[in-house]
Amino acid sequence: MKVSVDDIKNSPNQTLKTSFNGNIKDLETDGPVVAELIFKCLGQCINVKGQIVANVKLTCDRCLKEFYQKFELPVDETYMSGAFNDGENKEIELKDGDFVIDLYDETEIDADDLIYQTLILNLPNPSVCDINCKGDAEMEKYLKKEVSDPRLEIFKNINIRKEGK
Ligand SMILES: [Zn+2]
Repeated sequence: MKVSVDDIKNSPNQTLKTSFNGNIKDLETDGPVVAELIFKCLGQCINVKGQIVANVKLTCDRCLKEFYQKFELPVDETYMSGAFNDGENKEIELKDGDFVIDLYDETEIDADDLIYQTLILNLPNPSVCDINCKGDAEMEKYLKKEVSDPRLEIFKNINIRKEGK
C-alpha cells in the first residue's frame, strides 16, 4: 500500500486514516496482516500512528520447529516531506532517539515497508516456541560441547570486583 503525500495534505485536518488488510512481501504469516494507520501532516513532517496485528511465522532457536506468534505493535514514525528537504540532512533528530525518515523526492509513503520494518524490528531474539521447550536432542549435545570447551573455562574463574562496599 502506497500513501500519497498529497492525499494526506488534501484530507480534512491534513489527516488520513487508512486500513491495511493483506500480505506483506517477504513475511510469512498465518492469515492477513491487519494495520490501522493514521497519517498526519505536521508542517514539513508527516507522522504515522497506529497499530499492526499479525501472526508471524517464526523458527524456534532451540528445537528448530516452526511456529506462529501473534504481534500487536504500536506504530509511531515520522517522515520528512521531500519538498521541504534542503538536501543536507539525511536524518534529523527531533529529540533523543526520535529520528525522522527522509522521503527525498518520493511523493508516496510505502506503508508495506513501514509494516514490514516494524514487525522485523520487534521479532524476538532468540525466538522460542514454548517457554518449556527443551530443544532438539542433537542441538543440546552440540551446545553442551560448546560450554565444555577448555578455552571457555577461563571465564568461570574470573572474579568480578565490586566497586565501593
Ligand atoms: Zn522449540
